[in-house]
Amino acid sequence: MIEADIHEIDIVKAEKTKIHDVDFDNINFGRIFTDHMFLCDFIDGKWQQPQIMPYQAMSIDPSARVFHYGQAVFEGMKAYKDNNGEVFLFRPEDNHSRINKSSARMAIPEFPKEYFMNGLLTLLNLDKEWVKPGVGNSLYIRPFAIATDSAIAAAPSSNYRFMIICSPAKAYYTGKVRVLIAEKYSRSADGGVGFAKAAGNYGAQFYPTSLAQAKGFQQIIWTDANSHEYLEEAGTMNIFFRINDKLITAPTSDRILDGITRKSVIQLAEDNNIDMEVRRIKVEEIKEAARNGSLKEIFGTGTAAVISPVSAFEHAGTTYEIPDLDDSYAAMFKKQLLNIQHNLSEDKHGWRYPVK
Ligand SMILES: *Cc1c(COP(=O)(O)O)cnc(C)c1O
Repeated sequence: MIEADIHEIDIVKAEKTKIHDVDFDNINFGRIFTDHMFLCDFIDGKWQQPQIMPYQAMSIDPSARVFHYGQAVFEGMKAYKDNNGEVFLFRPEDNHSRINKSSARMAIPEFPKEYFMNGLLTLLNLDKEWVKPGVGNSLYIRPFAIATDSAIAAAPSSNYRFMIICSPAKAYYTGKVRVLIAEKYSRSADGGVGFAKAAGNYGAQFYPTSLAQAKGFQQIIWTDANSHEYLEEAGTMNIFFRINDKLITAPTSDRILDGITRKSVIQLAEDNNIDMEVRRIKVEEIKEAARNGSLKEIFGTGTAAVISPVSAFEHAGTTYEIPDLDDSYAAMFKKQLLNIQHNLSEDKHGWRYPVK
């Protein structure tokens, strides 16, 4: 961790809010941003004065290393408003520690926790009107860091910019998804950057995902790069399988992202006395379970969609349908998580973080 003096944030407020131009009932995810953004530059080995300013385009030299070498990391988190107008984050300190793990892997300097939390809370206080109450509504928060050196030598940058921008959101995916199990392409490999929210991980998924979409699937279930025999993640979500009443998810590793929703679901499974196994799971095991009727559910977990149920998967040219369930774990976990996030139920693990 690079030490930094704690500065007050330099704040320039927007002259006028854009909020009245937004149709909150018809939000196109990730295209509308709030009135303000947070920015902090790393120059001469040190994080500089943090700033909040009106959301705006910025000028960066074409030679900036982020454009050439993808030296960039990000986070995804949400703020929620309860019926009394109080705003909450969900486990935000975990997002801070994770972006620093991602940064370390990408040779980006770690961002001090005080700066992160203070920047986040100050920004949310300024833009709190943008967080709408009601389950399903949220403000999506995107912290990120980029290499800004004006130099195209293939070496780590000495200057960086850390930013936070916010975008109002409704529920992300709607309905169930059909998924294709990867047999050729891989998302991550041993010793690689799969555990990091490194920008290039996502860009590299677009092409194989578009091939899957052309075949009628919304997402790819990624398998291990060595053998393609083990199930790892679903698109940009962690993945859970329910066989009879037992829940199974893969262990985190340098290939699998340590999702905050994933670890919350593992905890909720324990709270609900559900048999939970964290272990590697073979494609063959779920195909067999689908054939003999013991495969009850597959669902993805992630901040954007919370829980995303899967209705069918394809592997080696065969499609396996997963029949609807009345008492699904996916629906139960989604409800329990949303209730905690929106301050509608007890928060016995201290996951809610009030924005004061
Ligand atoms: C962000 C992400 C997840 C989900 O993480 P959450 O903390 O639950 O939002 C899962 N897998 C990948 C690859 C991700 O990028």
